[in-house]
Amino acid sequence: MKKIVVLGATGSIGQSARKVARDIPEHLQIVGLSAHANADELAVAAREFPAAKTALSSGPDGAQRLIELATLPEADMVLIAIVGTAGLKPALAAIEAGKDIAVASKEILVMAGEIVMAAAARQGVKVLPVDSEHNAIFQCLDGRGSRHVQRLILTCSGGPFRQTPREELPGVTPEMALKHPTWSMGRKITIDSATLFNKGLEMIEARWLFDVPMEKVDVTIHPQSIIHSMVEFVDGSVLAQLSHSDMCFPIQYAVTWPERVANSLRPLDFAALGKLEFEAPRREDFPALDLARRAGETGGTLPAVLNAANEVAVQAFLDHRIPFPKIWETVARVMDESPFVAHPGLDELLEADRLARELAAK
Ligand code: NDP
Ligand code: MG
Repeated sequence: MKKIVVLGATGSIGQSARKVARDIPEHLQIVGLSAHANADELAVAAREFPAAKTALSSGPDGAQRLIELATLPEADMVLIAIVGTAGLKPALAAIEAGKDIAVASKEILVMAGEIVMAAAARQGVKVLPVDSEHNAIFQCLDGRGSRHVQRLILTCSGGPFRQTPREELPGVTPEMALKHPTWSMGRKITIDSATLFNKGLEMIEARWLFDVPMEKVDVTIHPQSIIHSMVEFVDGSVLAQLSHSDMCFPIQYAVTWPERVANSLRPLDFAALGKLEFEAPRREDFPALDLARRAGETGGTLPAVLNAANEVAVQAFLDHRIPFPKIWETVARVMDESPFVAHPGLDELLEADRLARELAAK
């Protein structure tokens, strides 16, 4: 029986985590739940798990309440399912308190992957990937280290504009971008999936989680979202992980690892699937991938800058203040204009994040 705290319990990942806990109650107990402002949904979650402690993170002492939940003595593991970088400090607090962390919030690994992984190694705790691609890679690696890896191949649905001609991209509205072809997710990540910044963030996330250089992280478009990612080993063999596109699969594996636990999730029917397709990403039309590769290769404060500028630009697009391609332009410009620190500590990363948000807003 694992006892877990769910930070961001009211979001898309949070709701799937609650579903997993209801599905396998003999293996998983939720002992803590947080929301930011959605008190009604937090109350629903609290009724599902009456023994769990709860916290609302908006409000004056919100940050402190999150840390208290993240370090609850009875918890074995903390699932970070907060959108954006607000989960970073609670994640570090959980690690310092000796808890394993299951990370959905890719933004915290993009911003501070080196610091999070180093802290986890120092404390001897596990960082379990929830993002479906990284969970797939984790399953394929099955404990093998990076010296066995030739290439990590992240699959990408291509988003709703996979086949949209470049000249039509300026006409894309938030309503169009919020319709993802294969996954149902929160608003921020759905826009990231349309720009391909989601895959860009995941490239950097993979670099830290699996300790491989950026040049070994590759992306292939796979419109059906059935293969969640693959590992090509040095001997040329490739392993893949497959399932329906339902986040309950990776969430369950992260929280029950190293066990495999029977559940009520729908199995694949290959005859019904028919075919799985692959194609190369349109790098020129969707510059997010190359911007992320550059940020990941350069390292230092640049990934934090990319991430912060992207968050601001996505919000501006959702608010109908900028056109769709301006998200890429904003991130590229903020990356060019931000000061660079090669080996930043946490304070320098937070400062780079703050400054990048200011520049992006401008
Ligand atoms: P949602 O927007 O659906 O949910 C976000 C959650 O975070 C909510 O519980 C929200 O509370 C809470 N929250 C929002 N802002 C803050 C804040 N400033 N401080 C503390 N809590 C906050 O997002 P998703 O569930 O889609 O995504 C969560 C994370 O998981 C993201 O980092 C995303 O990239 C990642 N992820 C998501 C996937 C998915 O399928 N959805 C797949 C892979 C990764 P409230 O409801 O009160 O606003
Ligand atoms: Mg993903």
